[in-house]
Amino acid sequence: MAMKTGAQYIESLRKLNLNLYMFGEKVESPVDHPIIIPSMNAVAMTYDLALDPLHEDLMTVTSSLTGEKINLFNHVFSSNKDLVQKVKRQRMLGQKMACCFQRCVGQDSFNAVYATSYEIDQAYGTDYQKNFIEYLKYVQAEDLVVDGAMTDVKGDRGLSPSKQVDPDLYLRVVERREDGIVVNGCKAHQTGIVNSHEVLVMPTVAMKPEDRDYAVCFSVPSDTPGITLIYGRQSCDTRKMEEGDIDVGNSQFGGHEALIVFDHVFVPKERIFLNGETDFVGMLVERFSGHHRPSYACKAGVGDVLIGAAALAADYNGVPKASHIKDKLIEMTYLNENIYATALACSYEGFETPSGAYLIDLLLANVCKQNVTRFPYEIARLAEDIAGGLMVTQPAEKDLRNPKIGPYIEKYLKGVDSVPTENRMRIMRLIENLTLGTGAVGYRTESMHGAGSPQAQRVMINRFANLDYKKKLAKNIAKIPD
Ligand code: SF4
Ligand code: FE
Repeated sequence: MAMKTGAQYIESLRKLNLNLYMFGEKVESPVDHPIIIPSMNAVAMTYDLALDPLHEDLMTVTSSLTGEKINLFNHVFSSNKDLVQKVKRQRMLGQKMACCFQRCVGQDSFNAVYATSYEIDQAYGTDYQKNFIEYLKYVQAEDLVVDGAMTDVKGDRGLSPSKQVDPDLYLRVVERREDGIVVNGCKAHQTGIVNSHEVLVMPTVAMKPEDRDYAVCFSVPSDTPGITLIYGRQSCDTRKMEEGDIDVGNSQFGGHEALIVFDHVFVPKERIFLNGETDFVGMLVERFSGHHRPSYACKAGVGDVLIGAAALAADYNGVPKASHIKDKLIEMTYLNENIYATALACSYEGFETPSGAYLIDLLLANVCKQNVTRFPYEIARLAEDIAGGLMVTQPAEKDLRNPKIGPYIEKYLKGVDSVPTENRMRIMRLIENLTLGTGAVGYRTESMHGAGSPQAQRVMINRFANLDYKKKLAKNIAKIPD
């Protein structure tokens, strides 16, 4: 089947029978829900741009499995060029949508599972990679969205999966059958699940032999019986249900997260990619998070929008030439390019794994994500500084449209005379969206915790720091015998 258009993708979502809840109620038609639509638009855009001759160079690739042209989101990276293409795509999509476009978790899981299942099969004579290749061919042929689900709810962080008081706090196998397995558990913060056809489940931490039932990786359709989705609230989310488009800040696009509850969900054996091999769980987790960390080049794209918004706010406020404003914009650009540079660097330094799939340089990927846990916060702080307090105190769009009080707003919220007041209000709301509103979920807190919290990267940076080698270098120069 050819790649889908955005409209065909939305039609395919309509056929899903999701068991989704929001605000305590079942959502009968997610594709028509005003809070969900912007996030669906973002994913639909990843389909339309793949068919756009202007963007196909970043959005599409030749499948290494079938030789067909496919969306890059469903590809196993076969070269450094592929890894670099991903990073450039991430920034471009961030620029176009200023939000989380959700499909990268799936792509990064494909790559981790493809490479790791090969090595499990080599060690144990299992068929996991064969299962996975068949699955990925299906995903590519149908041009599907797959949500990668790694993060368990984790309960007491001081206890391993099998030592938790409630045994379901990490997803686990509760029954093994001839034809498959039955699982229980809950995955948290699941980006884009409501816009996904399938969910690819992976373990979330390295495991010991006693955690065997928790060492499981598989995929199922997102509407499989036993799965319940509970939509995550975002700051200012109900503004999407109001009339007008100013107050929401970014009315076209957005992201979402949800809880995925698995209550006795059956997984057929041909969709299982790891089942009990605890010694390979660490590799799978490390490869997924390794791939996902430079995916945060998306934040450099969103950062471009925020820097542009801050520069416009300065123009509209009449201070574009003030030296401290110029310096703040330089600082924002410097920080933003550092995110992009490290994402590119780990991709150029990527290498081939035994499966033939390419993996990024893990040290540089972790440096990239560590930057992401910090720099968007500083960029957001500077944007708020430049914008001024109006970004959080201006009246509603309905006040602007009110014939009695609207003229007061027009008159008194004007900045430079040549710019309509409405434009100034729009830019203030966009900055608010990205720093405090629905967009801040993706730009700020997800920058902190998505693809692993800061300490997770510091552990990896320590592991790859190679201090002994560096000590040797110093001894050589200082003429200290080894
Ligand atoms: Fe992709 Fe960025 Fe969203 Fe993660 S935060 S899913 S990398 S767009
Ligand atoms: Fe993420």
